[in-house]
Parts: sequence; C-alpha cells; structure tokens
Amino acid sequence: MTVAAPPSRPRADRLYPTLTPAQLERVAAHGRQVAQGEVLVQAGESAVRVFVILAGQIDVVRPSAAEEVVISFGPGMFTGEATMLSGCRGLAQVRAGADGEVIEIARDDLLALIQTDGELSAIFMRAFILRRVELIARGVSDVVVLGSTHCKGTLRVREFLTRNGHPHTMLDLDRDPGVQELLDRFHITPGDIPVILTCSELVLRNPTNQQIADALGFNDAIDQTQVRDLVIVGAGPSGLAAAVYGASEGLDVLVVESTAPGGQPGSSSRIENYLGFPTGIAGMDLAARATNQAQKFGAQLMVGSGARRLSCDRNPYALEIGAGQRLPARAVIIATGAEYRRLPMDGLSRFEGAGVYYAATFMEAQLCAGEEVVIVGAGNSAGQAAVFLAEAARRVHMVIRSTGLADTMSRYLIRRIEDHPAIVRHVRTEVVSLEGNGHLERVGWRDNETGRVETHGIRHVFTMTGAVPSTSWLGGCLTLDDKGFIKTGPDLSPEELAAARWPLARPPHLLETSRPGVFAVGDVRAGSLKRVASAVGEGSIAIAAVHQVLHE
Ligand SMILES: Cc1cc2nc3c(=O)[nH]c(=O)nc-3n(C[C@H](O)[C@H](O)[C@H](O)COP(=O)(O)OP(=O)(O)OC[C@H]3O[C@@H](n4cnc5c(N)ncnc54)[C@H](O)[C@@H]3O)c2cc1C
Repeated sequence: MTVAAPPSRPRADRLYPTLTPAQLERVAAHGRQVAQGEVLVQAGESAVRVFVILAGQIDVVRPSAAEEVVISFGPGMFTGEATMLSGCRGLAQVRAGADGEVIEIARDDLLALIQTDGELSAIFMRAFILRRVELIARGVSDVVVLGSTHCKGTLRVREFLTRNGHPHTMLDLDRDPGVQELLDRFHITPGDIPVILTCSELVLRNPTNQQIADALGFNDAIDQTQVRDLVIVGAGPSGLAAAVYGASEGLDVLVVESTAPGGQPGSSSRIENYLGFPTGIAGMDLAARATNQAQKFGAQLMVGSGARRLSCDRNPYALEIGAGQRLPARAVIIATGAEYRRLPMDGLSRFEGAGVYYAATFMEAQLCAGEEVVIVGAGNSAGQAAVFLAEAARRVHMVIRSTGLADTMSRYLIRRIEDHPAIVRHVRTEVVSLEGNGHLERVGWRDNETGRVETHGIRHVFTMTGAVPSTSWLGGCLTLDDKGFIKTGPDLSPEELAAARWPLARPPHLLETSRPGVFAVGDVRAGSLKRVASAVGEGSIAIAAVHQVLHE
C-alpha cells in the first residue's frame, strides 16, 4: 500500500507567510514606529533580531551598487532567515520601505517562542530554511571566490562555503572575462589563488577554513570561555543527533566541527536507506536539517577549527582547538567519525582536489560531466558514487581489488550497478599510477590476474576504499582498539580500565570511554555499525548517560 503524504501549502506561502491576528498576538511584545528609509539591520550585522510588520513595508536589500530589493514584507509578515537560528551575520540589509509599525523580537526571545509554540515554530523554521535556500538559488551573496576549477584550494574553499550553507559567487580565472581587472585592482598574484572578496572588500588570499569562518563571522555568537554541560566534537550524523537530543533536553551544548556539518553523508550524493526518506535524501540536506533542528533547540555550532587535544586530567575537561583556545566542558561526546583511506601511491597529494577526490557530490559531478571517471572501491560508498556519477560522466570504471562488489554492499546498489550501461567493473584490479601536470591527466591500472597494465587518459579518480578513525588528535587520552577506534562500555576490560586509572566504583556506561563523562558515538567507536541510522541512534542514546554523569 502506498501512503500519501499530506498536501502542503504553496511554496510562496511557506516562504513568506502572513501571520493571522491570533498568531500576531502571541508574538506581540512591544510595537515600535519606523520611518521610511530607517535601516533596521545592516548587511553583515549579526542576526540578533527579527521584525514582524504591523503596518507599512520592510524591504530586504541586496548589498550591491544597484541596491536591489530582494523582497518586500507587508503587514503580518516577518523578516529573518537561517542566520536567526545560528546567530551568524546576515547577508542583506533590512530597512523600512515606508513609514509604519513593527514588533521587534530579540533572537533569544524568538528561540524561546519557537521552542514553546509548535504552530509558530513550524511557520518560522520553514520560512527561515526556505529563505536561505532561495538566497542561495538567487545568488544573493556577500562573497566572491576568485579561483580556478583546476585548483584544489578553490575546490576546498567552495566546499567549505557550500557545506556551511553560505552563498557565494565564483569567478573562474580561466573562463570569466574581466577577472584580470579584479586581480590588478587587488594586486593579486597567481600564488594567492583562491582569493575571497567580501562586500566589505576584505581580501583573503588562499585562506584556511578557520580564516574564512573568522572573516565571515561564522562563530561570532560563541562565547569560548563559558563552561558548557556538553561539548560534542564532530558534526556528522552522530554528533548532530547528540546535539538535537542534548539541547532539546535542556543541556547547554556546543558542537565543534573542523569543516562543516554533515560528516561523511555530506560528501555523498544520496542516502536511500535512512528511515523516513522513501525517495532518499542528499547528505547535505540531511546535515542542513539536523543543524537547523539542533540550533532551534539552542545548541551552538562552531565550524572551521578542529579539536587538537582533549585535556582529560582536569575537571571540567578542556578541548583545545585552533590556535590553542580551550573550551571547557563538564561532559564530552566524541563523534569524529572516520576518513577515507588514501591510495598508497607516491605523489598522490599533488592530485588531491585536482583529479583525486574523496567525495562524490554535485560539485565533483559538474567537474567530470561528459568525461570518463575511475572509482576505487567496492563498498556501499563506492557503489553510491558509481550510480550517481554515471548520470553525468560518459563512463564510470569501478576498479575493484577483490573478486567483485563487497558482500556488505546494499542489494539495490548492486542491481543498479549491474544494470547501468555506463558502469564498467574491473575486478582483481588496482590503480598503479597517476600522472599529470598540475591536474590529473592519466590513470594506470593493473589486472592482478594477468599482470597487464593499462593507462587511460582519465582526469578524475574517486577513492572510496574504507575508512580510518579520526582519533589521532586524542593523544593517548582514551583507550583505543588496535585499529585506533575508541573502546566504550562493556568493550573495556577490567585490565584496560585499571591501566586507564578509571576512578569510579561503577563501570563505564554503554557509550562511555575509559574517562568518566567522555563518550564516543558513531563510526569513531570500536564495534560501531558504520551506518547513518546507527550513528544517529548512538548520538541520541549517549545523552541519557550524559544526564546521569552530570548529576553524579
Ligand atoms: C559516500 C558515503 C556514502 C554513505 N552512504 C550511506 C548510506 O547510504 N547509508 C548509511 O546508512 N550509511 C552510509 N554511509 C556511512 C555513514 O555516512 C556513516 O556511518 C556515518 O556518517 C557516521 O556518522 P558519524 O557522525 O559517526 O561520523 P562522520 O559522518 O564521519 O562525521 C564525523 C565528523 O567529525 C568531524 N571531525 C573529525 N575530526 C574532527 C576534529 N578533530 N575536530 C572536530 N571535528 C572533527 C568531521 O569533519 C565530520 O564532520 C556512507 C558514507 C559515505 C562516506
């Protein structure tokens, strides 16, 4: 039986809803008068308040010489978009288009309203999220990336902005006319590429992710000195699930993420077996939904700087990030997941981001449209990448070291790969050479049965050959298994607990590590299932134990 989803209201209504008089009464704090032309929020100012219009008109104006009005709001409507949830800087100016009256709601009051009023929560959350999508689609942006599609730094910078939901305009040095003029104006040399220009004319030359986050104010709203109930390291599915449950149950939660929320699914085209999404969901969509949900409950997210060390011999614990800042926490959840193995090949790093990729998203698919690609691996992620890339690429070569697709690969993927005319499987085969000048140009692979080596003019290799845990930064603080995954709960033997000087009479909780109050969830945990649903489940379960530890 097919169950029909309930009909939804037209998109424009959901993007720009008009509140009913009863709803307006529930938001009504103090109305105030505004005069035509009065600027209520500057572009680039932190999103600290929203305006509900009672009379007159409020315009949202794009920060450009032409001052384009992006949208005008009338009585009953409200301003704001996703930055109201994150507290980041807004992209556009908000100003009165006519004399009138507005209700001004501070961000904290708005979050409280959203958490307590289910009906208004749905209206505001939906509008904020759809508006951010609309801004991205319409290219309303305060950032220009000057770069080249052949440059790995450009790919990294664009991925960082895209995965953090920040719209940007790309000017390609190899294609866009007029770029030279910009280069001259800002005295930019080829060694500075990629370059970021913002509307405040700030120029960042080949910036790190942290420099971009700082310049665009991604973490402005975060007080780094505050002792938090819970610091979560990693914003993949397990970390975000812990954030949603922790914050919704009243904990003061900070999530620290080295790049952008989403984790491994953020680099995947479509997750098709996650409960509740019968047509599948793109990894980035899942991440954006989960992030908005966590922020709605008050969790904060810090992006661009990874955890470097956990000082675990002190109470509260301290997580060291970036340039030595310390984030104090009463409890810590480690959700740093795993990273793809790299091909054991000399010179690999020359081509990473310039022909060798560890993710198959729309961004990479655009780069290899109409060309041949190689995918190394035979597991689920390799299978997903093959099916996805086969829609854009001319031919997809799956280079598989064993005798066939992995037993662990989902049945539906195996069937799609077998049926797809553009996917060719090369079994008992290994990639043995990568050649090129700046960008990958040729790939060699060897048939291990015959010993024959073939070299092909292929410019794109996707390596998806299993993962290693992201635990090197822990520096011996927690007990790990022989592959570097974190041991928890009953997996810790009495000898291991004694060696770690476990200080309590009780044994560790289910997902607790060899340190009281430090938990490990998802792919980083020894014995975990390496699936989105199990990662989400573990992140949620850990919160019950966090409550117990905080009351200990
Ligand atoms: C391409 C691909 C497709 C997949 N498809 C499916 C699927 O269809 N169905 C399914 O069930 N599973 C799938 N999986 C597996 C699934 O994605 C993982 O099991 C799941 O993402 C694990 O979640 P996690 O939160 O534990 O870790 P991860 O997703 O690995 O997230 C860890 C996060 O921690 C961050 N991090 C790492 N180190 C640090 C640090 N020192 N400081 C701060 N942050 C740090 C990382 O940047 C990352 O965002 C797929 C995996 C891949 C790669």
